[in-house]
Amino acid sequence: MPKRRYETSLDCYDPNAERHPLPTYPWKQAPLHLVTRRQLREAGLCPGGHPPAAQCLRPRKRRPTQPLRAWLYDARLATEKRTPSPAQLAAVTAMNRAHRICDTCRRDVGYRIPTTPPLRGECLDCHETRTHPHQEAA
Ligand SMILES: [Zn+2]
Repeated sequence: MPKRRYETSLDCYDPNAERHPLPTYPWKQAPLHLVTRRQLREAGLCPGGHPPAAQCLRPRKRRPTQPLRAWLYDARLATEKRTPSPAQLAAVTAMNRAHRICDTCRRDVGYRIPTTPPLRGECLDCHETRTHPHQEAA
């Protein structure tokens, strides 16, 4: 089966979800209660665990089978944005500090050290001196 092509805004108009798994609207033509996650966030809201209720599609000239998509959430089901507690913020700060401390020299190096190869929790200075011991800066 050939892939569906989206060339005009009419290809993106399917409010009763007859051709798409979700109600589908062209860009800027969705009902006012259907908004994007960023629009919810701007109003201090979040989807509250609800899946997208609809989608907006916009044709792309150079990729007619891959229209630009925006998931739309029902603003009537949205809930207040959660705010982190002081204890959660403190935990995140402590975690970020722990990731900046080198396993070898125990210094806070000021950047997050990857635990994966090649650094494996070691700061760049320690890694350089261990892997290239004879190329130290003069
Ligand atoms: Zn180090």
